[in-house]
Amino acid sequence: MTHDHSASRRRFLASAGALAAGAAAPPALAQGSAPNPPAAGGLPYLIGRSTDTLIPRGKVPRVVICGGGWGGVTAAKYLRRLAPHLEVVLLERNPVFFSCPMSNKWLVDVVDTQFLTHDYLGVSEKYGYRFIQTEILEIERDRKQVVTAAGGLHYDYLILSPGIRYNYEAWFANDRRMAEATRARFPAAYIPSAEHFHLKRALQDFRGGHLVMTLPPPPQRCPPSPYERACLIASMFRNKKIPGRITILDHKDGVRPIGPGFRAAFEELYKDIITYVPNARVEEIDPFKKHIRTEAGDFDFDHAILMAPHQAGDLAWKAGVVPPPGQGKPGGGWADVDPLFLHDRKDKDVFVIGDAVGFVSEQFAFYPKAGHVANRHARIVARYIAEREAGREPTYQLPDNLCFMMVDSNPQVGISVQFDYKVNGKGVIEQTQIDYNERKPETVGEDFNWARLIYEDMFA
Ligand SMILES: Cc1cc2nc3c(=O)[nH]c(=O)nc-3n(C[C@H](O)[C@H](O)[C@H](O)COP(=O)(O)OP(=O)(O)OC[C@H]3O[C@@H](n4cnc5c(N)ncnc54)[C@H](O)[C@@H]3O)c2cc1C
Repeated sequence: MTHDHSASRRRFLASAGALAAGAAAPPALAQGSAPNPPAAGGLPYLIGRSTDTLIPRGKVPRVVICGGGWGGVTAAKYLRRLAPHLEVVLLERNPVFFSCPMSNKWLVDVVDTQFLTHDYLGVSEKYGYRFIQTEILEIERDRKQVVTAAGGLHYDYLILSPGIRYNYEAWFANDRRMAEATRARFPAAYIPSAEHFHLKRALQDFRGGHLVMTLPPPPQRCPPSPYERACLIASMFRNKKIPGRITILDHKDGVRPIGPGFRAAFEELYKDIITYVPNARVEEIDPFKKHIRTEAGDFDFDHAILMAPHQAGDLAWKAGVVPPPGQGKPGGGWADVDPLFLHDRKDKDVFVIGDAVGFVSEQFAFYPKAGHVANRHARIVARYIAEREAGREPTYQLPDNLCFMMVDSNPQVGISVQFDYKVNGKGVIEQTQIDYNERKPETVGEDFNWARLIYEDMFA
C-alpha cells in the first residue's frame, strides 16, 4: 500500500490549526524562539548532548521550571495564564505524571493506575508551554543556565520544584551498596513511581508474616500518609484473610497529625494486626539479614517499607539553595528561601516551591510537605513573576492545606486535617491546624472530590 504524504501533511496542518484555535494561549514556539542550530558530530538535529544548546535564547523572557511534579506542572500552566508573553519550559525526567497522593489507595486496589497517571503532552500543548522530557544534570547559577542530558538552556527566571530525596547517608554514610540494596528490596515508595510498582507487587505476593514500616523524622513528605498506608494494608490483610502483622516504627513520640483518629483506627479496627511503636529512631538497618535496630528495640521482618529521612531533592542541592550542614535553620537539608516570597535569599529570580522549601516559621517550622501546598506555592509564584513582569511589586500570598486519609477500605471511611496560614503582627507566619478525627464515609467523598479538582487544576 502506498502512503499519500501530501494528504497526511494536509491533515496534520489542519489538525494543528484546530489545536491552535482551541488553545488557551499561543504555543511558546510562536513567541520567538530561534530554530535549533545544527547538531555537532553528524548527529540528527534532535539528538541533543548535554553540551549542545537545547533551546536557543528567544526574544522574550524565559521561565525554566525544573521538576514536573505537583508544583512544577501547576506553575507552568499558571504562568502561561497570568503572563502569556513569557516563554515557559518545563523539564521533567518522567514521561508520565504519577501521583503520590491517592497512591496508598492504589496499593490496595481502591483506585487503578489510570486514576493516578496524567499526560504531560496534552496540557503543555493546550496552554502553550514546552514540556521537555529529560534528566536535569546541573544548574549553573553564575551563567543562568540549566544543563540537561539533551542540552543546556538559559533562564531569566528559575523555578525549582524537585521534590525530595532519601537521605540514606543518615543510615549508611557513604555505603552506596547498602543504600541501593535497601531501595531495591524494601523501597519506601515515597518518590514516584518505579518503587510504587515494586511495593504493590510485594504486597500482592505477601502470604503472611511480619511487615515493618520505619517512619522518617520530621520534616517529611506527607506526614499522615504512612499511617494511612498502614491502615489500608491492614484492611487488605483482614479482607483477604492474610495472616500478616504490621509494626510501625515511628521516629516521633506519638502519631501526628490526626493522632486520635489514627490511634482509634489502630486500636478499634486493627488491634490484632497493627502495633505502633513510638520513639523508634533507627540505629542500624541490614536489608540482607532483614533486621532493624532502633532505640525502642530490635526487629526482624519478612518484608519492610524502609523510609529513610527526607531532604530536599538533589536538584535543590545542585542549584546551591540548600545551606551546607550546620549553616541552615533547624532541620537542615532543605532549601533556604524567603518565607513569604519563596525566592532564594540572595537571588529574586530563583524560586523554590513544594516539598523542597525549608524552614519558614518559628511557630511551625516547615509547611506540610503536601501536593496541595506545592500546587498553591506554584500558583503564588506564578503570580509573583507575572506581577513583576507587569512592573508591580507583588504582595505576599500564603498557601492553605487539606489532607484526607482513608483508614478502612471496606467499608470506606476517612479522617482529615486542615491547615490555614496568616502573618502575625511580628511578621511571623502562623499555622492553624484542625484535625477531624471521627471516621466518616463522607470524608472519602470529599477526598475524591479534592483529587478530581486538583488534578483538573493541573491537567485540564
Ligand atoms: C504515599 C503518599 C501519599 C500522599 N498523599 C498526599 C495527599 O493526600 N495530599 C497531598 O496534598 N499530598 C500528598 N502527598 C505528598 C505529595 O506527593 C508531595 O507533597 C508532592 O508531590 C510535592 O510536590 P513537588 O512538586 O514538591 O515534588 P514532586 O511532586 O515529587 O515533583 C518533583 C519532580 O521533579 C522531578 N525531578 C527531580 N529531579 C529531576 C531531575 N534531575 N531531572 C528531571 N526531573 C527531575 C521528579 O521526577 C518529579 O516529577 C503524598 C505523598 C505520598 C508519598
